[in-house]
Amino acid sequence: MKHLGFLVILICILFSSGCEQPSKIDILSESLTNYEIVATLDYKNKTLIADEKVYYQNNSDQELNELKFHLYPNAFKETAEKTKCVNATQFSRAYPNGFSEGGIQIREVLLNEKCAEFAISGEEENILSITLEDALRPNNCVCLEIKFDLTIPNCVHRFGYGNNTLNLGNWYPIACVFEAGEFMTDGYCANGDPFFSEVANYWVTINYPSMLKLAHTGEKVGESISKDITSTQIKAKVVRDFACVFSEKFNTISANLGETQINYFYYDDANEKKHLGVCIDAVNTFNQLFGAYPYSVLNVVKANFFQGGMEYPQLVYISDMVDNEEEYVNVIVHEIAHQWWYGVVGNNECENAWIDEGLAEYSTALFYDRNPIYGKNTEDVINSALSSYLLFVDVYKEVYEDFDSSMNRNIHKFNTESEYVYLTYVKGVLMFDSICELIGERKMEQSLRELYSVNSFKNVKPVDIVLAFENISRKKLGGYIMSWLDGSVIFEELTG
Ligand SMILES: [Zn+2]
Repeated sequence: MKHLGFLVILICILFSSGCEQPSKIDILSESLTNYEIVATLDYKNKTLIADEKVYYQNNSDQELNELKFHLYPNAFKETAEKTKCVNATQFSRAYPNGFSEGGIQIREVLLNEKCAEFAISGEEENILSITLEDALRPNNCVCLEIKFDLTIPNCVHRFGYGNNTLNLGNWYPIACVFEAGEFMTDGYCANGDPFFSEVANYWVTINYPSMLKLAHTGEKVGESISKDITSTQIKAKVVRDFACVFSEKFNTISANLGETQINYFYYDDANEKKHLGVCIDAVNTFNQLFGAYPYSVLNVVKANFFQGGMEYPQLVYISDMVDNEEEYVNVIVHEIAHQWWYGVVGNNECENAWIDEGLAEYSTALFYDRNPIYGKNTEDVINSALSSYLLFVDVYKEVYEDFDSSMNRNIHKFNTESEYVYLTYVKGVLMFDSICELIGERKMEQSLRELYSVNSFKNVKPVDIVLAFENISRKKLGGYIMSWLDGSVIFEELTG
C-alpha cells in the first residue's frame, strides 16, 4: 500500500503542470515575426494613432536588404483608383452616407531605435518599403518601429464604421510575404479578399472609450480602466492577421466546446441562441472532419459589413445586412470554415482564391449532411451550385465571345465580381465535389485531413492540394485538377 501511495504521488507529479508539453503553437511561435502594437482609438473623430514594433524574422533562405509592408487602408483614399476597395455597383451599399475617405499616414520609421529611410510606393501608395542598414541574413531578426495614424472611413467595409460597429480589419502595416526572391505586393481589389501573409505573433494594447465593447483576434491577457478609457492587452500567437471590432451595442453569448471558447457578439438578434448553436455545430463538425481548431477562442461577430461575411484569425464578421435566416446561417458556417482554410492552412488569396474559397464552400456543403437540423443536405447544395454555374456560363458566353472559365488567375484579372464569385466559390465547390466522386467519400475526408495536418500554419500552392489528394487516393489527379483550374474541363461530360 505504501508503494502504491508513492506511485500515485509520482504519477500526480508527472502529470502536473510542471510536465506539460509545449503546444505546437508555442513551439512554432518561437521562430516567427512578432508585432507589438499600442493603439489609441479616438472614437469621436474616428481616428487612431499607433506605434507598431515589428521584430521581423527572416525565415527565407535569402539575405534581405529591404522590407516591404502592405498599407491596405490607403485603398480607402479618394485617389485610390487602381486599388479601390468597392465596385461601382456596390458603392451605395458600402457608403450609405456617401463617399468617406480613409487612409494611413506613416509618421516615422525607426530601425534598431534610429530613424530609418522609408518610401511609400506601389499603386496608390499601398506599399511601405524600408531600407535595411545591414543585410538581414536568413534566420536573423531586425527590430523596426512604425508610427502611424489612421483615418477610419464611414464605410461598412473590413476597415470602416457604420451605425453599429467600427471595424479594424487590415488596418496596420503588415509584412509582405517574401517568396521566390521577391516581396508579394498585390494591392487591394474590390473583388474577393486580396490578402496574403505569414503567421506571426501579436502583442496588442488598445485604448478606447469604456462605453465600447471589443471583439478581437487572440486572447485578452489584461485590462484596466482609467478616466473612462479602457486599455485592453491582447496576445495572439501564430495567427496570420489581427483584427478587431468595436461596438457600443454588443451583447455576448458564449459556450465552450472542448478547449475552445466560442463567443457570439451581436445586436438586434432575436435568434442569438440559435446562432451560437450554429457556431458550435460548425466548429464541432470541422474539428471532426479536418482536425482540431488550434486556438482557445473564436469570436463570431455581427457587424456593419456590406458583403456577407469576412474571415480573420479567431474572428469572423457576419454582416448585419444579411436578412435571410437561411443565408445568415450559411454565412456563419462558411466564415467559420475559413478558420481551417485561410486561417490555419493559408494561401495567396490574390493568386489562388479558389483554394480558400472553394474549400470553405465545399466544407459548408459537407456541414449540412452532418447537421440535418438545418434542413439541407450536401447533394442539394452541390446541385444548386451546378445549376447556377451552368446558367452563369450560358450568360457569360453570350456576353464575352472568348469567355474564359479559368479559376487560377490573379484576383485583379477577373472582369466582374460575379465572374470572380462563380469561378472561385461555385466552380471551386464543384471541383472538390468532382474529386470526391472520383476518389470516394472516405478518401476525400482523409485527403482533407492530410491537407490540414501537413500544411497547418503554412501557405499552400495548388501543387499541395493535388499532392494531398494523390497521396491518399494513389491516383494521378494533377491533370484532372489542372483542367478544372485552366478552364478546359468539359462540363457536358460532368452533367451527363
Ligand atoms: Zn469566403
